[in-house]
Amino acid sequence: MTSHHVLVVEDEQEIRELLQYSIGRSGYAVTVVPDAESALDQLKNEAPDLILIDWMLPRMNGIELARRIRHDQYTKDIPLIMLTARGEEVDKLKSFDAGVDDYVTKPFSPRELNARIRALLRRSGDAEGRQLLVGNLTLDTVAHSVCVNGSNVHLRPTEFRLLELFLRHPKRAFSRSQLLDLVWGRSVYVDKRTVDVHVLRLRKALHEYELDTLVQTVHGVGYRLNPTFGSA
Ligand code: CA
Repeated sequence: MTSHHVLVVEDEQEIRELLQYSIGRSGYAVTVVPDAESALDQLKNEAPDLILIDWMLPRMNGIELARRIRHDQYTKDIPLIMLTARGEEVDKLKSFDAGVDDYVTKPFSPRELNARIRALLRRSGDAEGRQLLVGNLTLDTVAHSVCVNGSNVHLRPTEFRLLELFLRHPKRAFSRSQLLDLVWGRSVYVDKRTVDVHVLRLRKALHEYELDTLVQTVHGVGYRLNPTFGSA
């Protein structure tokens, strides 16, 4: 995977440009959109690593957008930061209720905002630590190894990244285009059926450990970790 991708939803052009510039300078890939509707459109195609939402947006406000993001199975785990001129306690509570992870009050310092983005990305990335477990399978994200009951499972890099993604988001179903985006990267053009080929390879590799049903097909959607295995 390449650098983290941040989606910014802000209607004021000046602030939008400032955010694009300052977040981009910190090494993140930034996409900016002017309203909630464009953000939802954008989210149909790709899942960013973090979303920065301005509270006051035309038509659908930031709180409503945050709620929708949290209620969508594809986007519910994406870290959210709310950006707003409102600093009152009750408003903060309202945005935390909507599932927002952090809150930055305008006028903001770009440096502080970047520190918060970094902290949130680190937290979400390290939430499950370097070892991801499911049933009797352990995936080590640092050693790049997969073990079942102590024996090494040999996976090719793409299958490894697919498995890692499913283990990091045990409750989430991914569409083929989301998998292409997250595993292959947005800049690469690959046919969606490629995903099926690699999921099949992953299942074959896991077959001798009786884990070939670990990755489940969700009809009409894509793939997810089989919930019956449970997360250790
Ligand atoms: Ca605004």
